[in-house]
Amino acid sequence: MIKRSFFGLVKPKLQYEIIDEAQAEPVSIKTSKQIMLYIDQSVDPSLENAGENAGNVLLKTGDQVKTGQKIAMTDDAADYLLSSQSGQISKISTFVGIMGKNYTSVTIDVDGESSQNVDEGFKNVCQAPSLENAREFLTGLPGQPDFNVFFDSEKPVKAIVVLGVDDDLLSTTNQYFVKNNIIAIKTGVDLLCKITGISNAILIVPQHLEQVAGSSGAVVKTVDSEYPSAHPELIMRHILASEDGESKSKSGIAFFSAEAVCAIGAAYNTGKLFLEKLVTFVSKDGNKQLVSVPIGTPLQDILNEFNETLNDGDRVILGGPMQGISVFSADYPVLPDTDTIIIQDKNQITERSDIACINCGECVRVCPANIQVNQLIRFLEAGQYEEAADQNDLFSCIECGFCSYVCESRIPVFQHIKLAKHTLESMKAAEESNA
Ligand code: SF4
Ligand code: SF4
Repeated sequence: MIKRSFFGLVKPKLQYEIIDEAQAEPVSIKTSKQIMLYIDQSVDPSLENAGENAGNVLLKTGDQVKTGQKIAMTDDAADYLLSSQSGQISKISTFVGIMGKNYTSVTIDVDGESSQNVDEGFKNVCQAPSLENAREFLTGLPGQPDFNVFFDSEKPVKAIVVLGVDDDLLSTTNQYFVKNNIIAIKTGVDLLCKITGISNAILIVPQHLEQVAGSSGAVVKTVDSEYPSAHPELIMRHILASEDGESKSKSGIAFFSAEAVCAIGAAYNTGKLFLEKLVTFVSKDGNKQLVSVPIGTPLQDILNEFNETLNDGDRVILGGPMQGISVFSADYPVLPDTDTIIIQDKNQITERSDIACINCGECVRVCPANIQVNQLIRFLEAGQYEEAADQNDLFSCIECGFCSYVCESRIPVFQHIKLAKHTLESMKAAEESNA
């Protein structure tokens, strides 16, 4: 897939996956016993330092939960999840995840009656579509649509952009919806335009899907097949900025994935919430298969379906190979934004090294943000994060992960960048909260 540079003079090229006629239909996987829903406490900063109390969601252990019911920390929580199954809450706990983020985990024992025990909250309001009821009931849909962006009076939204492309390599989730569900996308686009009052809807697709995308009712624009051209930040810079100079900044644009738009349209059309996530599963032997799985299903259920075993030292990557995060347990659940799951045998894992930067410049050549990554990494390795931000454009990084991929010294540049950004943002939030 990679074309290496010739004598280091040419930028290496990575191509996105292309969905074609030979693409097998998704395998439908059922949850066996339990689902787990992870609620990010950082969405409500007042809960970040709440210790044990932060685990107190509205529901408690022993409560019955219906399919489609909201699982939230507080009555007016901006962040919530929707239970994809009915059952009984068997455990609520808190844990510290990647970058020290606090989460509340809610485990639900599935009762096998999910199609009968359905929460009626959304059905009661779906006849009168509005931004308010979309925000109240649909944020936990697959693709995790964000409606809060429409409530920011300082940054009025001028365009709705639907991503019919997949941001990371190997994933084909959004392409699948464009290729197979274009009418559902049209329904979702029409609804979003209606409830927001915004008529400017743009559908971004890879070139091979341009024709089918024409039936969406949205303005169609294409991106090329070279990574990371489908990154939202680059779409904004290269595709949207050309038609509207003001679109150069993120304000003014609401992004939705094609999967989320389909789910929004289906929800208002039927009164039912569709809570299955379409994920590309890549097994140790490199085979790829699309799977449709209820949100919250533990990875172990997917591994079982494909007779895949996770041994000591094997790695699970949630997300694509460039931007994904590693977890080492099959207990982790499928989340509303999980597009790809990659299983790597421990023998396939390229160990990171402690070799110093050799100044080869590969990272600089590939960086789409034009950052002098070879200089940036020196500050980051020394823990000089403020200098990295002030002198080396740390916050211009769009987090594509390309620099880590090409690094001759196998330095985890991308991970250094994420840690530095997270540390500075946490310091800023703490200062603001103290003030
Ligand atoms: S992760 Fe950031 S620094 Fe690295 S190549 Fe991408 S944009 Fe550049
Ligand atoms: S960080 Fe890695 S890719 Fe960049 S100049 Fe140094 S050795 Fe080369």
